[in-house]
Amino acid sequence: MEAPARLRSVGHFIGGKPVDDDAARYGDIYDPARGHVQARVAFADNATINAAVDAATQAFPKWSRLPLGRRAEVLLAFRELLKQHADEFGRIVSSEHGKIVTDAAGEVVRALEVVDFACGLPHLLKGELSEGVSTNVDTYSIRQAVGVCAGITPFNFPMMVPVWMFAPAIAAGNTFVLKPSERDPSASLLMAKLWQEAGLPDGVFNVVQGDKVAVDALLDHPGVAAISFVGSTPIARYIYERAARNGKRVQALGGAKNHLVVMPDADLDAAADALVSSAYGSAGQRCMAISASVSVGDSAEPLLERILARIKKLKIGAGHDAGNDMGPVVTPAARDRILGYIETGVKEGASLLADGRTLRVSGYEDGFFIGPTLFDKTSTSMRIYRDEIFGPVLVNLRAKSLDEAIAIVNGNPYGNGTSIFTRSGAAARAYQSEIQVGMVGINIPIPVPVGYYSFGGWKASLFGDLHIYGPDGFRFYTRSKVITTRWHESNAGMNLGFPTHK
Ligand code: NAD
Repeated sequence: MEAPARLRSVGHFIGGKPVDDDAARYGDIYDPARGHVQARVAFADNATINAAVDAATQAFPKWSRLPLGRRAEVLLAFRELLKQHADEFGRIVSSEHGKIVTDAAGEVVRALEVVDFACGLPHLLKGELSEGVSTNVDTYSIRQAVGVCAGITPFNFPMMVPVWMFAPAIAAGNTFVLKPSERDPSASLLMAKLWQEAGLPDGVFNVVQGDKVAVDALLDHPGVAAISFVGSTPIARYIYERAARNGKRVQALGGAKNHLVVMPDADLDAAADALVSSAYGSAGQRCMAISASVSVGDSAEPLLERILARIKKLKIGAGHDAGNDMGPVVTPAARDRILGYIETGVKEGASLLADGRTLRVSGYEDGFFIGPTLFDKTSTSMRIYRDEIFGPVLVNLRAKSLDEAIAIVNGNPYGNGTSIFTRSGAAARAYQSEIQVGMVGINIPIPVPVGYYSFGGWKASLFGDLHIYGPDGFRFYTRSKVITTRWHESNAGMNLGFPTHK
């Protein structure tokens, strides 16, 4: 895996300093539109992880005791800097991930919402007080930071998903070690630089690059109190089990197969717009992408006709051109996996209405492009339905009734997001009530909750009990302490009985 010396190297950020020294191992960072390696990323070993956890441990006492208003000031300054650098984030993310620059800059907008909420930390960290739980006795609770927290993040939102974790963690008084995806690691270093400019003390936010070796070292390190993970389901399950076995609190968000149910009474143009945007935006590499449509009753034919007409108009090309609608997928391995699934779908007998395998992008012949792909007459036993493909592939299933559609969605192992398009309030209400999914849209295709709610799926899409960011984020990154006090001049006297409220 030794890369040529002329390649740019992406390193770590520990204790307020970039760490670019020679690593024993490196990974490739691709330019997905051109199809070549553009840089290399250092892979942390155990010593580097120890250094980052040490830096975070040393910074914890001072940061966690800093007055709340002063912590909020740092968050507010960081928020402004993120906003000012939105275009730069867009360019960095687009060049390593492949998504369109404007889509990449959109990550910043959603991340800002999460920081906005975290800026309210003085209010969010308030406890509760009960006066007079017994004679002259009061009880109150406080929420305290847990210590050093680590975040392990996926390639598909290299800016926004880390913010989901570290904004509430740092606001609550914790220190943080981020292990971003090795496929598009550069945005993490810009965030580290901006934290420093915002006045965050050195060591509060650290970045370590790497692969499984770095992740395992964080999961096993006794100095790490909490692990947040976002990524695929098999790795989420592994992270949850290993970190929990080591006594850490864990939230591990996994993969998805998100369904959009189209009722016969729906505005079919709006439903087709929603399906095309959410299935093919970011080349289908969003955890909230719709990858399965469920057309109910006689909606199938007119809906598919509308989807096909829209697919023909999509402009596919390099991410740096904001005039394009869809870019390439992230790596050659991702391209080959997705092409393999399209082949499987054909073999399984689904009907291939749009075939993305034939796409060629002029001037970018080596890029990892796959065109929008649409299957109809998909059954729930097919692998193209059961597995998360994570590419621009939409499969349509047909259902006779709303009940059958609900049974299909609830029978799927994933439960991240789902939507229903309908003009019937009764159908919408039945759907929101009966569906076993964590985030539900009604005539909304990608129901990612705003920053003052929390984000999380059900079933195989989340291991752990608390969702990420918003109020649940603050619960996850703090632990409660309950204090019972008696301030009175006279002694209550000796009593060997169990204390009661008398
Ligand atoms: P991934 O699971 O391959 O990698 C995620 C992180 O885990 C990376 O930092 C990676 O270095 C690390 N990792 C990978 N293999 C590991 C191993 N064997 N041991 C320890 N660590 C390992 O996911 P990805 O391909 O980067 O991202 C796409 C996946 O993330 C999709 O499944 C998508 O649905 C999911 N995702 C989920 C959400 C959500 O909120 N539920 C959000 C975004 C992405």
